[in-house]
This record gives sequence, structure tokens and C-alpha cells, in this order.
Amino acid sequence: MQTRPLFDSDLDGFRDSVRKFFEKEAVPFHAQWEKDGQVSKELWRKAGEMGFLCPTAPEEYGGVGADFRYSAVVMEEASALGLSGVGFSLHSDIVMPYILRHGTEAQKQTYIPKLISGELIGAIAMTEPGAGSDLQGVKTTAIKKGDSYILNGSKTFITNGQLCDLVIVVAKTDPKEGAKGTSLFIVEAGTKGFEKGQNLEKVGMKAQDTSEMFFQDVEIPAENLLGEAEGRGFIQLMQELPQERLLVGLTAMTACEAALQWTIDYTKERKAFGKPIMAFQNTRFKLAELKADIFAGRCFTDRCLELHLDNKLDVPTAAMLKQWTTDLQCKVMDECVQLHGGYGYMWEYPIARAWADARVQRIYAGTNEIMKEIVARAL
Ligand SMILES: Cc1cc2nc3c(=O)[nH]c(=O)nc-3n(C[C@H](O)[C@H](O)[C@H](O)COP(=O)(O)OP(=O)(O)OC[C@H]3O[C@@H](n4cnc5c(N)ncnc54)[C@H](O)[C@@H]3O)c2cc1C
Repeated sequence: MQTRPLFDSDLDGFRDSVRKFFEKEAVPFHAQWEKDGQVSKELWRKAGEMGFLCPTAPEEYGGVGADFRYSAVVMEEASALGLSGVGFSLHSDIVMPYILRHGTEAQKQTYIPKLISGELIGAIAMTEPGAGSDLQGVKTTAIKKGDSYILNGSKTFITNGQLCDLVIVVAKTDPKEGAKGTSLFIVEAGTKGFEKGQNLEKVGMKAQDTSEMFFQDVEIPAENLLGEAEGRGFIQLMQELPQERLLVGLTAMTACEAALQWTIDYTKERKAFGKPIMAFQNTRFKLAELKADIFAGRCFTDRCLELHLDNKLDVPTAAMLKQWTTDLQCKVMDECVQLHGGYGYMWEYPIARAWADARVQRIYAGTNEIMKEIVARAL
């Protein structure tokens, strides 16, 4: 791995314990979790005990108030080991920050300590069967009735969708309005009328649960509106997007680095025409090109991380990063599969899984076409 000035030696110990935790508690079970379509709840609870969930949560809510590099370390280590089933980053770095930054004091006190411990697993439900990129088109409604809201609608493709105990749901409090009529709600699993649908069968990330959700006349207390006022949902969503897209970029580059190393090792071992595959000029040139691409990608990602630590990562820059790094990730995985030959297409080889896992990175957290729209609008 190249030197990363942002990550000083203070973080080495933390990285080491995260790596050891995943090697012991996740690597041996991941193949079974792929068959199960989800990881165990036990893994979440143990990660909570170790302080690996929500590392940035402040001390007043039971956290350690670490900076975002610690979150990056947890995700990077999962990504480096190919643990695509581990949905911690969505929980720790998307769901928890929504509550921390936009929730009422009562919501923070109620939910954040349990997200830190792993007692509660979080999800966020924006996408619907008829509305993905165009979120203003969501049809789910939350209509005020006395001291409650009545929620109706359905969601799909929701990460942590089977395991989750609480979901932040995007709904229209004023269906006649677009963005201005949108609000976010905290909905607890087990609330009458809230059903988790099937665990969707995906091309990759097979150990991560991704689900449909159905809401039929779900009565939720008015205090579960995220924040104090209706109609702020879009503003809240927009404020959290740079961090979400930075997360994707960070995992993309770590996955690329891991894939390159597996491929270097493999091509040194594997022989054809009496010599290692690595001896062919095509192999060496391909690997040299990928090495340079990944080096550049890592500089780009860490610069964005640095900006984010200073609260200066803006929406277009984060969009640029998400698009560029995930396009690169798919290119790297494809080249690395090619250099593995037929073995690269076999599920038991990490490179095959990494290739399948990579594809969705260009689709979720805003598709790469939408990312280019965002960048182009700011030109
Ligand atoms: C594994 C997985 C996990 C996910 N996790 C979550 C989650 O936890 N929570 C959640 O809410 N959602 C989640 N999603 C949903 C994801 O965010 C959406 O799939 C994504 O936003 C795209 O929406 P869509 O699938 O409806 O595609 P569409 O919006 O229908 O897009 C289809 C195609 O049209 C293109 N397109 C659309 N609009 C434009 C435009 N204006 N200009 C150019 N091209 C355009 C898109 O780029 C894409 O290529 C997940 C998806 C997957 C696959």
C-alpha cells in the first residue's frame, strides 16, 4: 500500500485491531453468510462491543467521538478482506449521522447509544420501485393525524433491509409538493403494518441483505419525524450525500489495491509456455498501468477525505470522486479477472467475488450518470 500522510501511526493500532477482528469474526463465516444472504447479528453485537460501530458518535451519546478517518479504517479493512456482506458503514456513517445532525435531542438520546452498541441495526429507505434517481418522485406518504403520522407506500433495494431494527424512511408529508413536501421518519421494525419483503437475490454482495419494505397504514408517533419540522427531508438528504459518496470512493480504492495484490501474487505463481504469466510483457504492462491508476485514485480519495475532515468536501467534488473511482474499480476488477484466466471466473477465487461486488458501486449512492450531471451543473 502507498504511504498515506493522513493516516498517522495513531491509527495503525486501531487498523490492526479492526483487521484482527474481521479475520477472526467474519472471514471464516463469510462464505456461509453468502449462502444465507446476510451476516449474523452476533457479528454486529461483537463489533459494537469492540467500538467499531459509529466511531464518530460523540461521547455524550456513548461514543468515542473519533474523526472520520476511524470510520474509513473500519470500511477499508472490510473491503480489503472482501467482506462485502458487512453493512456497518451504512449504519455507522449514514444512518447514525442523520440522527446526530438532524434529529431532536430525544431522538439522539434514544437511538444513538443503541446504534453504537449494535443493539439496533440501521437502514435508510429512499428508493421505491418507481423512483430511484428521481427521488422527488417518491410516492410513499406520511399524513399527519392527531399526534401520529400514517405511513403508506413501499421501498426497494434497501441495504440491511432484513437485519435492520430501525429505518429512516423518505416520505411525502405534502404529496402535492416535490422536494419541499418531503420529510424523513424514524420507523422501528415491528411497528404494525411495516413488513420486510423478500431478501433480494443479487449478482454480487451476496452476504449483504437487500430488501423490499412495505408500509400499510403504519401509525408512527409524531415525534419520530426526523428533526423539528416537516418538509426538510431533501435538505437533510443533500447535506449527507458528500460523506456517503466519499465512503464509496474509499471502499473502491481499497478493493482495487487488494485486487491488484492478489493478481500480482497469482501471475507470479501461475505458469504458461514454461514461464510465469508475470513474465509476459502484456501482464507486466497491464499491472503497471493499474498500479498507476490506483496510485492516482488513492491520492484523489485521500484528498477528498482531507477536505471532508475540514468540512470542505462539496457535493460536485464528492460526485466526481464517486463516479471516477467506481468506474476505475470496475476496470481494475475486469483486468484482474482477465489475468487470472478461467480461475478468475470461479466463485471460490476472491477476484471473482470482487468483480461481482464492484458492479453495483456505479449504481447505488446515486448512479454515475447522475454524478456526471451534478459535476456538469457546477461547471
Ligand atoms: C445492492 C443495492 C443496494 C442499495 N441500497 C440502497 C439503500 O440502502 N437505500 C436506498 O434507498 N436505495 C438503495 N439502493 C438503490 C439505489 O440507490 C438505486 O438503485 C439507484 O439510485 C438508481 O435508481 P434506480 O435503480 O431506480 O435506477 P433508475 O433511476 O431507473 O436509472 C436507470 C438508468 O437511467 C439512468 N438515469 C436516470 N436518470 C438520469 C438522468 N437524469 N440523466 C442520465 N441518466 C439517467 C441511470 O443512471 C441508470 O443508468 C440500492 C441498490 C442496490 C442495487
